[in-house]
Amino acid sequence: MKPKYCSLVCFFLLSSLALAQPQHPHKKSAKSAPVTRPKADPALAIHQSALIIDTHADTPQRFLDENFDLGQNTPVSDGHIDLDKIKQGNLGAEFFSIWVEPEFKGHYSKRAMDLIDSVYQQAARHPDKMTMAFSADDIVRAHDQRKFAALMGIEGGHAIENDLRLLRDFYRVGVRYMTLTWSNTNEWADSSGDIQDPNVKHHNGMTDFGKDVVREMNRLGMIVDISHVSDATFYQALLISQAPVIASHSSSRELTNQPRNMTDDMLRAMTNNGGVVMVNFYSAFIDENYRKASSDPEKVKQRDAEVEAYKKAHPHPDGSPVTYDEYAPIEKKWAAQFPRPPLKSLIDHIDHIAKVAGIEHVGLGSDFDGVTSLPEGIDSAADLPRITQALLQRGYTREQILKILGGNFMRVMREVEATAKRLQAERKESAALSFEDIELMVGNRVSTSQLLDRITLHGVNFDLTAERRTRLKAQKADDAVLEAIGKARRK
Ligand SMILES: [Zn+2]
Repeated sequence: MKPKYCSLVCFFLLSSLALAQPQHPHKKSAKSAPVTRPKADPALAIHQSALIIDTHADTPQRFLDENFDLGQNTPVSDGHIDLDKIKQGNLGAEFFSIWVEPEFKGHYSKRAMDLIDSVYQQAARHPDKMTMAFSADDIVRAHDQRKFAALMGIEGGHAIENDLRLLRDFYRVGVRYMTLTWSNTNEWADSSGDIQDPNVKHHNGMTDFGKDVVREMNRLGMIVDISHVSDATFYQALLISQAPVIASHSSSRELTNQPRNMTDDMLRAMTNNGGVVMVNFYSAFIDENYRKASSDPEKVKQRDAEVEAYKKAHPHPDGSPVTYDEYAPIEKKWAAQFPRPPLKSLIDHIDHIAKVAGIEHVGLGSDFDGVTSLPEGIDSAADLPRITQALLQRGYTREQILKILGGNFMRVMREVEATAKRLQAERKESAALSFEDIELMVGNRVSTSQLLDRITLHGVNFDLTAERRTRLKAQKADDAVLEAIGKARRK
């Protein structure tokens, strides 16, 4: 592989040289040529002027498990993101993924909080180059100060441990999106990752609680992220969400037949919703040949066996799970046996989504530091300018490219913030009790007579479905309370 820095510089140098060439060399006049400054590369000019937002990188595991410092310039074989690569790629904002391996069962929120802390630690170590950001305005402010903005998104709804209070706590510490599931179906939403597995208990999409999670995310201003979810979960989330949603790192299923990619029908639903699909760069999600080669059952079996053997041979003394970062070298080595797809495959996905969903509904969700193979030419965040170059070559205008690189996501983030503001105001006015209000009071052992008073006074804003009834019963709610809810004024 060519050293990264050189390939990038050479690339731009060559393109500028090509542009500086006279168009008709044979007509060149004999007079001495006027002094010409090298012409700026138009793609690079667009790229450097853009506010570039990538919505998915798994770097926090490197922070936490490898003690990796973003200030270290690492070889691309070790990682896709560091401050040098961010600068070379003009990456303006990154959503760092707070991904909790399902093996951490019983400790999900602790692991999530440790990962969150690791992102804050990086911002504290490099205050001159980066800053934490929690809103669209924060991203713009950081960009104006020429600082890299770090944001956080939870990957996998299991991290909230079936508790809306934890969801709110995660919002308070700065989490601004959450994928409803990771590859594992949780207790309230189905995932595309195990939807065919008959041993997994599925919900036909989402449970009532899952729907409450979406509503509460809307009210908080946390972006609903539908990457990884099953098709049924996707359509239900779109029906419920009052704000645009995102797919933080998903590509097109029409082009690459992967169940966690999005069908054209889903893309059109995203148009209706006003959301944005951030294209995942992973070779197996953007290239059918790579996907087929790398999903060969025999080869997959051999990789899984190697990983399992590694885990067995390297147990943690405290019994905590062996983390992905520890066995990633095995997976990377395994992935290297399949030839990398051309950059064209990635651009095809951006192009397809732009055509089917619309130019307003596509963006970048690299999955850097979370994938074992990237297309040719994209070795790390430093290579983002190549995407701009390729889009320009495909005929995309400057305005369209700026939307893809970050503009579309900014629009969605602002809409999510505005929806939250509206919902919070409405909620104050109506004062009708939500299911979670009542569940909280029952859980806190508010007396039955007090509960009955409040229900009669304020009314409720939900239907007492069988599932909700069971949940209140499980918390030992009095039958009189259930009856009062059934009869209460509905707002
Ligand atoms: Zn993911």
